[in-house]
Amino acid sequence: MSHKLQIGEMQSSYLTDKDIWSCFNYIFSPKSKNSTTYKFVLIKSIIENLYNVNASLELSYDQLFSSFAKIYWNLVIHHDLNQINMIGKKSEVQHILLEAQAKQQIPNTLVFDKLSSELQLHIISKVKKRCKLNVMGAIYGDTNGTIYDFDNKKEFVKLNGSFYSFMQRFQRVLTYLTNYHLALFLEKFNEKGDTTKLLLKVENVSKRSSLDQFYSVLESFYNGKCFYCGKAIKKKDGVHVDHFIPWSFVQADQLWNLVLSCSSCNLSKSDKLADTDYLHALIDRNDHFLTISSFQLREDMQVYTANKLQQLYQYSIDNGYTDIWIPNKRIN
Ligand SMILES: [Zn+2]
Repeated sequence: MSHKLQIGEMQSSYLTDKDIWSCFNYIFSPKSKNSTTYKFVLIKSIIENLYNVNASLELSYDQLFSSFAKIYWNLVIHHDLNQINMIGKKSEVQHILLEAQAKQQIPNTLVFDKLSSELQLHIISKVKKRCKLNVMGAIYGDTNGTIYDFDNKKEFVKLNGSFYSFMQRFQRVLTYLTNYHLALFLEKFNEKGDTTKLLLKVENVSKRSSLDQFYSVLESFYNGKCFYCGKAIKKKDGVHVDHFIPWSFVQADQLWNLVLSCSSCNLSKSDKLADTDYLHALIDRNDHFLTISSFQLREDMQVYTANKLQQLYQYSIDNGYTDIWIPNKRIN
């Protein structure tokens, strides 16, 4: 099957877990053509957007490739890592990013989310245009067209229902597996690049350097109080933007999963799930957010449902987040 396909329709509607494991085994095996890191980065981008799909399990290319561009930029520019299996050559997306960097004279230290929003959009649009041709059809071909539909004209991908449920149920192990294979590839094809602690870099490559933009949105709502313990947050304490479902699991930043917390709650909660009381409080807060017109326009809020958050909470437990946390003292 050609990887230059423009439209791919799903070949079967129901897939067993065994079918889907064999797809992943194939993608990660030497039988699959992995001359670049595209497939690994695409899987990471799908994982990152798992809860950004609409009710029909569709995801826009803009969302998918903004994750892709961010991950790629951080690998290529920030970590100076080659993405193709030929030393001395570069993948096409690598060229796009290096050109943008040279043109604007951007230092290597800048991670993607520190670029101006105008430049981010410009890069995302170029990356999307290139990946439409080379990337969407590749995994589609590897899996015999079973795990998603895609349409390069309408610019969306629609995930197969069984595949979606599989990704939710095995999200953590799939994240590990993808990061491992990406790090392995990078180690093999980077002689001079910064290959120390590769796995750690790959694990954190999606992470935003700052959640300030969310802080300014949440600030007025919390009135300076911690979501968990209810205490007024002192200045010296600092306000933390906390991922209610831990970032290490969700790998994404959506307003409906973010709260403001004091530093002691944030640090003691760390990578754990908060008690279900807080889940309900967050659902109530999000219901309130949906009544505010400026929030209704946000992409992340448009695909939010209470059911989605409840599912995510349950899947976190199923994926091993079984330590349930409560704050030391609660004021209200
Ligand atoms: Zn607190």
